[in-house]
Amino acid sequence: MQKMQEWYQYFYTGQDCSRILQDISALTALELGQTSHAYAAAARHTLALLQAAGIPQAELLSFPADGRTAYQDKRMPLAWEATIGKLTLLNTGSPDYNRLNFSGPDSSHDFVAADFQQHPFHLVKGSVATAPGGQIARIITEGQFLSGEDPRGCLVMLQPLTSPRAAVLKPILDQGGLGIISDYLQGRYKTPDALQWVNACTEGAHWHVQADDRPFVAFSVTPRIGDFIRDRATAGALKARVECDGRRYEGTLPAVTALLPGRRSEEVWLLAHLYEPLADDDSFGVVAAIEAARGLMARGTPEFSVRLVFAMEFYGYAAYAASRGENLRPAVVGALNLDSSLAPPELELQIHLAGPGTPFYGNALAELLVRALAKQENAPRFAFNRYPGAYHDDQFLSDPSVGVPTIWPLPAHNEFWHNSSQTAAWLSREGVRRGAAICSTLVEMLANPRPEWLDPAFRLAEENLADDLRLLSEKPFGRPAERLRHCWQRETERLQDFARFCSAAAVQEAVAALAAKYRALSVGLADSEKPTPWRAYAADIVPKRQTVGLPYDLAKVPVRQRRRLPDGVLYGPFANILANLDGRKDLGQVIREAEYEYRAALSEAQVKKYVDAVCYLADWGYLSLLQEVRIGVEEIVAALRQLGVREGDLLLVHSSLSGCGHITGGAMSIITALKQAVGPGGTLLFPTFTRPYIYLGDVLNKNYNYRPFDPADTSQIWVGAVPQAFLEQNPAPLRSRHITHSWAGVGPLAEECLRQHQPCDPPAGESSPLALACQHQGKVLFFGCPLASVTFLHYLETHCQMPFLQPAVCRRRTPDGGLETVLIDKHLPGHRDFYCGNQAHKCKFFRRAFERGLQLQQTSLGVGMLQMLSLPQLFEIGCQLLREDPRVLLCDDPECTFCRQF
Ligand SMILES: [Zn+2]
Ligand SMILES: [Zn+2]
Repeated sequence: MQKMQEWYQYFYTGQDCSRILQDISALTALELGQTSHAYAAAARHTLALLQAAGIPQAELLSFPADGRTAYQDKRMPLAWEATIGKLTLLNTGSPDYNRLNFSGPDSSHDFVAADFQQHPFHLVKGSVATAPGGQIARIITEGQFLSGEDPRGCLVMLQPLTSPRAAVLKPILDQGGLGIISDYLQGRYKTPDALQWVNACTEGAHWHVQADDRPFVAFSVTPRIGDFIRDRATAGALKARVECDGRRYEGTLPAVTALLPGRRSEEVWLLAHLYEPLADDDSFGVVAAIEAARGLMARGTPEFSVRLVFAMEFYGYAAYAASRGENLRPAVVGALNLDSSLAPPELELQIHLAGPGTPFYGNALAELLVRALAKQENAPRFAFNRYPGAYHDDQFLSDPSVGVPTIWPLPAHNEFWHNSSQTAAWLSREGVRRGAAICSTLVEMLANPRPEWLDPAFRLAEENLADDLRLLSEKPFGRPAERLRHCWQRETERLQDFARFCSAAAVQEAVAALAAKYRALSVGLADSEKPTPWRAYAADIVPKRQTVGLPYDLAKVPVRQRRRLPDGVLYGPFANILANLDGRKDLGQVIREAEYEYRAALSEAQVKKYVDAVCYLADWGYLSLLQEVRIGVEEIVAALRQLGVREGDLLLVHSSLSGCGHITGGAMSIITALKQAVGPGGTLLFPTFTRPYIYLGDVLNKNYNYRPFDPADTSQIWVGAVPQAFLEQNPAPLRSRHITHSWAGVGPLAEECLRQHQPCDPPAGESSPLALACQHQGKVLFFGCPLASVTFLHYLETHCQMPFLQPAVCRRRTPDGGLETVLIDKHLPGHRDFYCGNQAHKCKFFRRAFERGLQLQQTSLGVGMLQMLSLPQLFEIGCQLLREDPRVLLCDDPECTFCRQF
């Protein structure tokens, strides 16, 4: 422990802070351009820095930048080049920030709001070329776009708090927008003339434009100019000349590495990313890493070899790790990632421990370091939290399938994240000094660990275990005995990793002593619980990882079938779940372990979400299920029979693909089974609803989920995977033409039920498939979903002329590619009492209907339920109830702004 203090002092006083700042400044200047050219220059410069520092085996590596190649399921960016990127507002004059309405005295001249040549951040990387000389585009605000302004050919000026990412970019491009202008900026009120460096303006979770991404042009402007643009665009037609010569192409992405050989060949990795052009993020990291290597080298040969890796954040690391092989555990001890790892005196520094899936003595040493430096005057103040131990983008190599546990120091707040004010001149000298000294100390500790640290690490483990016992009684969930056992196992594995540099006997002794401590602490802890349905289901599944690295870009999945994985994969318990799947433990146990590691209980809905995501990954080969509850076509047909489905039936099918558990063969198995159950004489109708609403009832569309109705685009369908699969995989599906409430079907009565409904009829009126299915004595089936999905009740509302049906304004795509705005009468705005998910069977309407004799057929399937009602009976009882009490479908919550109006 004393060594740690000495080392920190040594580095703190010994390092050359002026050189560090100079090097940061030079590297940032090269990276600033954001282009592939700039990347190459930054990599060459870094190589030169390594060589100048005398670090051995420095070399330049090259990976494809083709937007396609994936390493560990992280798909590489496309290369990009630009020299022109200019946004000129026409006839606005210059903004006058001293006047409230911004307008300057003279509006006859143009104003350049963004210019790549003035500051490269002005042009968002990935932007594509306009016609030479530029093109004239209208600028509309985000608010105007959401209120239904046609964005074709326009740039959309986003709101100050809207991050320029997939959630906004995708819908704007979907509707023919040219691109966006963003003034989103952290630290905006302290730096109103600074620019955001926009790093992830893509249509997905990825951070760089890939081959699947559509073209756009986008600009980053300062908050002051953003305010001016919004003001002008709100006042009237604002036009701009947009000039860009951006070019995406298949190129290469460099990385730089060097190796400081130790007495042993196992490597400690020191990571710092290139290409983000901010002095703190991460020119500092690169320079501090070289400084640490220089310091280490000056002190002789280290025990473990030290590998420096400078590459593109996340993607570059994945590429480098993949180039070294699959599981790196035998070759690599662990890693330290320096990313924005400054330690300004006014901020607390948090050392994020490596995710627990790959045990690391370094986690214990980091904890000891925090204690050792607690009272040292020139050391950072630490905000230490040993939970949860993460796998996020700076630590994802900790996943056991890769096997490089990664520690990451980061100040608790970075209020100027990706803010152009973060130049070397802005950095606090003391922050640089402390940050670099901490980095050097950590590297020294990891590369030259000392056997005498086993003893304090053991005592730390004992304390942690006692603390875990306190924490679990403070916030109890799960099985207390199992939870403490898991904490003990994690502490034990961490101690066992000390065997890398301590005698096996000493480690064994510590491990045995910890076991004794654990046994004493665990006396009397309860070790059972009553499992919930989804936990019980998960306990019957044993998944095994099939690929290296945490799945991220879903490169194995066709674009249309990709979906967002829980927690963005890396940023929550889902990563811990994936990390802990070892092919032996069942999923129920692994989910519990993730909860223990996060110290937070998951709700039943969250458990279901994780189970569903695991099964989805299994469907696409990222995992295999060594054991599972099989629900295939045969099981589904049997359940449908049990429920009372007969040959020749006409069924309206509401469904949830995940509602019963994992369906072997996915949505198509459900469709095949339904067809078998009703036979060739039966008819199936699936809802294929979409949301082309600009305005519904008295509510403006506030969400980005609105799209002009396009029957060819099945991704617009929001009622589940089964109808989508039905449309996509059926050779000649019949689909009604309604803009918001279309149905698709198969069988002898399908055409008759579907053809009458006109595109702009009331969605649930007499011409709708709902009414016709009822006339044909149909039934409504709920496959794994609650009664809340029952659209048929809206037909009752329409039939009984309820006053709460109101018009909607919608938009659709015309066959010639244009857009048309239409009005639909008697639409379905607002709230209903039965919109209550799993509790719908207990709502006012169904309670009363069951009292009147409404027959609900039910049978269980997997972890879920199939339910069925007869439409004529529902119609008859429903109409009676509505006539007796027109509010029977509305809720009685006085806070409900919709229902209380009637
Ligand atoms: Zn960074
Ligand atoms: Zn209500």
